Amino acid sequence: MADHNQRADTIVRKLRENGHKITPQRLAIIKILAVSEGHPSVEDIYEQIRADFPTMSLATVYRNIVLLKSLGEVLELGFPDGSNRYDGNKPAPHPHVICIRCKKIVDPVLDSLDEMKKEVALETDFKILNHRLDFFGICSSCMAGKG
Ligand SMILES: [Zn+2]
Ligand SMILES: [Zn+2]
Repeated sequence: MADHNQRADTIVRKLRENGHKITPQRLAIIKILAVSEGHPSVEDIYEQIRADFPTMSLATVYRNIVLLKSLGEVLELGFPDGSNRYDGNKPAPHPHVICIRCKKIVDPVLDSLDEMKKEVALETDFKILNHRLDFFGICSSCMAGKG
């Protein structure tokens, strides 16, 4: 949990440095994003804090995410069906593994990633700035019929 608090602190500091106020609602959104348990959608975040902030709208959550994205503190995972998910725990590009049944998303640690980037650069003569690497499959709970 210590790491998650640290991550939330980093986001708060970045917002203050850029002249943004830290409202209780904003802090609640940041805390969920800093953990990024399962890479929440805007709706997931809204559902989690709605009880504490009954007057808050879905649009408020969305605006906060757009702001954090613009500061480079949240990574957006867009999907063709429009169900975007967010990672505020690791805002730098990183690979994801996505369960096609329950839509769970996890961050694998890939030793081969740096090699892969070098290989792509060499192969294409591109200077690689960014990447998007998604693996799709069925998670172990879904395989066990629990998902
Ligand atoms: Zn699953
Ligand atoms: Zn992630």
